[in-house]
Amino acid sequence: MDYIALYIKNLCFNCNNIISSYRLSHSLPCENDLDDNEILELLNIKDENTFRELLYKKLSEKGKLKDYLNIYNLYKEVNKFSEFFKKALSSNPWRVQIMWFERLYKNNSFSMIAPTGVGKSTFIIVSSIYFSSEYNKKILIILPTRLLVKQFNDLFDKFISSLNPNIKFIAYYGSNKKEIKEKINNEEFNILIISNQFLTKNFDILKGKKFDIAFVDDVDSFFKGSKNIEKLFILIGYSEDDINVAKKVIDIKLRGKLDFNSDLYKKFLQIKNKNSGVIVLSSATGSLRGKRVILYKELANFTIGTGSSKIRNVTDLYYIPKKDIKEELLNLLKELEDGGLIFVPKERGIEYMKEIYNYLISNNVKVGLIYSKTKTREIESILNDFYEGKINFLISITDPYGILTRGINMPERIKYAIFLGIPKIKINIRNLEKNIMNIIILSNLILPYISEIEKDRITKIITRLRKNMKKLSSGDLKLISDFLNGNKVELVGYLKSFANDILTLYNILKIYTDKTEILDKLKENPDVSIEVDENKNIYLNIVDLKTYLQASGRTSRLYSGGISKGLSIVFVDDQKLLKSLDMKLRYYLL
Ligand SMILES: [Zn+2]
Repeated sequence: MDYIALYIKNLCFNCNNIISSYRLSHSLPCENDLDDNEILELLNIKDENTFRELLYKKLSEKGKLKDYLNIYNLYKEVNKFSEFFKKALSSNPWRVQIMWFERLYKNNSFSMIAPTGVGKSTFIIVSSIYFSSEYNKKILIILPTRLLVKQFNDLFDKFISSLNPNIKFIAYYGSNKKEIKEKINNEEFNILIISNQFLTKNFDILKGKKFDIAFVDDVDSFFKGSKNIEKLFILIGYSEDDINVAKKVIDIKLRGKLDFNSDLYKKFLQIKNKNSGVIVLSSATGSLRGKRVILYKELANFTIGTGSSKIRNVTDLYYIPKKDIKEELLNLLKELEDGGLIFVPKERGIEYMKEIYNYLISNNVKVGLIYSKTKTREIESILNDFYEGKINFLISITDPYGILTRGINMPERIKYAIFLGIPKIKINIRNLEKNIMNIIILSNLILPYISEIEKDRITKIITRLRKNMKKLSSGDLKLISDFLNGNKVELVGYLKSFANDILTLYNILKIYTDKTEILDKLKENPDVSIEVDENKNIYLNIVDLKTYLQASGRTSRLYSGGISKGLSIVFVDDQKLLKSLDMKLRYYLL
C-alpha cells in the first residue's frame, strides 16, 4: 500500500528533532540518528526486548544515544520490577501497577485512585520491599486503622519470607508498644507501617526522620486528622518554614493576587525543587477535592484528577435524534453490530422499555431484556448468552441500582453504552413524594433563593442528615421510607430523628415550592429543567451524574490487561440537561 509520509517537528524520542510518521509508527528514531540502512535489521525484529537491546546498541555505537537512554533504562527497570513482582506473587503486575511503578521510579508524587480490588495494597507492599531492598529507600506507610496495620504486618511477613531481602520493617499496631517505639526512635527499620492515629499522637518520635517514599492509604480518613498534611510534608523533608511559605502562596493565589515575580514566589519555587521524598495517595472514591488537597497539589506537583480520568477511559458522545427514537436506535445498533448496553430513561417507564425491546426483536436484533422483574435464573442465562456472543445487546431501565448499571463486569464484551435519554432525577413538586434523596436534593436546590435565616436552618438539617446517613444500613433506610409513606412502622432513636428531619424539610419544601418566585428562580438555574404535564404537575429534572458515570463506566473497566476503552452515546431529550451534563462531566474529569 502506498502512503504519504508525514513529518512531525520535535517528536523524535531520541534527539527531539523532526521525524517521519513511518519511523514513529515502527518505534524507530529519526534519519539523523540512524539512516535507512541502519534500521533494516531492526525492522525485522518481533520481540520487544531484543528490539530495545539492539536499538540501544546501534545508537550507542554510533555515538547518537540521547533521550533514548532514559526510555531504555526505564524499560530495564520495569522488567526488573516485573520479575521481582512475579517472584513475590507468581503473577505479572497489571498494567496500572506498572504505570504506578514508573511514577515512583521517576520520583513523582501521585495518587492511585482506583476501586478496591485492583491491587493497590499489593502494589504498596511489593514496591516498598523493592525500593527499600534495591535502592535503600526509607519508606513510611500510613493506614487508616490499626487492624489494617496488623494485616499489612502479616502480609509483609509473608512476602519478606518468600523474597528474603535484607530489610527490616516495623508495624505499630498495639503490641510491645514500648519496645517498638524504641526501635522507631533508633531508626531500626527500612519500612515503617503506622496508623493515622499514631501519626497524630506520636509525631514527636517521628520528627527528624526523613522518608523517601510515604504511602497514604485511604486519603479520605487521613485528611480528617488536623495537621496530618503538614506532618506528612515534614516527614518527607520539608521544614515548617517551607510549609508556611507554601500556605502563604496558596492563600494569595486563591485570592487571585499572586505576583509571580515576588520574592515570596521565588522562594516557593526553590522549596518546590527541593530534593524531598515523594507521597503516594490512595483512594477508592476519587473524591480528592477541596481546600485540604491544595497544599499537595501545589507543593508536590500533584495532578490529582488524572487518577480518576485515567481509570474512566470513556468517550462521551451525544446525538440529537431526528426521527423516531426506535428507528434511530435500530440504525445505530446495525452500525455498532455487537457489544452494547441500552438504557431506557427511568421516567419513561417499563412499558416503553418493553415497546422498544419488542421493536428490536421484531427487527431481528439479538437483544436481552433485564429489569427489576426479571428472575435471577433468567438473568443468569441472558448474561451468559451475552457473554458467549449469542446475544449482541442488553436493554434495561436507567436505574441507579440496576444490574446493568453496576452489577456487570465484562470488559471484553461491553464496548458501548447507549442512553435513550439523559439519566435524570425527576421530582414532582406539586405532588412531592416523601422520598429521602429527592427531599435532600430539592432542599439543596432552593437554598440560594431563600432568606439567610431559613438557609441556615435548612443547611444545618442537611448537614446532620448527610452525617447520619452514613450510619444507616439499607434496612434502616427502608424502614424510614416505609414510615414516611404512612406504613405502620415504629421508629426509635436516631432512626426517628432522621425521619423527623426529613419531615421538617418536607414541610418547608411544601411552602416554598408553592411560591411562583421560587419556581421562576429554579427555571433560571442551569442545572434544572422544568416540565409541566397535562395534569398541571410540575417536574424538576436534574442530571443524575452518578448513575451516568456508573452505567457508562461499564464500557471501560480495569482488568488484568489494563483499562479498556469505552464509548457512551446519549440521545438528547433535553437540551438544558445536556449542557448541565456536559459541565458536570468536565468538572468531574478535571
Ligand atoms: Zn532523532
